[in-house]
Amino acid sequence: MRKLERVTFTIEQLAVQLQALGVARGDVLVVHTSFKAVGSVENGPPGLIAALRCALGPDGTLVMPAMTDGESVFDPARTPTLDMGITAELFWRQPGVLRSTHPGASFAASGPLAERICAPQPLEPPHGADSPIGRVHDADGKVLLLGVSHSENTAVHLAEAIANVPYSIAHPTVVEIDGVAREVSIAESDCCCQGFKQLDAWLRERGAQREGTVGDATARLCSARAVVAAALERLRADPLVFLCAPDAGCEECTLARASIKPA
Ligand SMILES: [Zn+2]
Repeated sequence: MRKLERVTFTIEQLAVQLQALGVARGDVLVVHTSFKAVGSVENGPPGLIAALRCALGPDGTLVMPAMTDGESVFDPARTPTLDMGITAELFWRQPGVLRSTHPGASFAASGPLAERICAPQPLEPPHGADSPIGRVHDADGKVLLLGVSHSENTAVHLAEAIANVPYSIAHPTVVEIDGVAREVSIAESDCCCQGFKQLDAWLRERGAQREGTVGDATARLCSARAVVAAALERLRADPLVFLCAPDAGCEECTLARASIKPA
């Protein structure tokens, strides 16, 4: 009797799929990923990281989010990520990978531009022009969404920061000041982020999104600049374009609307 076996993707197969999607050697690439969506991979999540490194080559820079809960003093060498997925959690721990120092919104990077991307940044906004994602945008980097949608795309937060959207939620975050742990408040343009999914249509109509599969996952690839340009165009017409409608019953977007200060 034959047993149904799940296909295991080799590192080489994944690298070929990434290149077919448009990931090129020497790229600066931010990856948001759900490992579960990619399926069975040779050597597991480290195998996926190896495939990404292989597609980028030694001149490429690989970047992943490494955000944390902000509930204790952030130590880039120790603090685990929160809700970033197993691939991102293992990536920052690999030898030679740098991690930026924002207490809530750090990124990890490896490659020639890693130092520049992980350089110190202002506390807020966490994803502004002077932040890891802002520097990826500066360097004309790309965003790869692997098994996740634009709701996970931090480049959209960069657009919100550039557009200076009127909603912002304060996050209590512990930082060390003069050797003492203190709680500071860091404002973030929070919403449920489901509205970010509109980027699919906006990028498709501009021919600015490559789509395919990597492993079993749906994959989207676009330039950070295309994401920001498309989002800014809509944000300038309607600064609340990413928020759910007031009657949608979305708790996070209701809070975002309530945070808007009267003009
Ligand atoms: Zn919402």
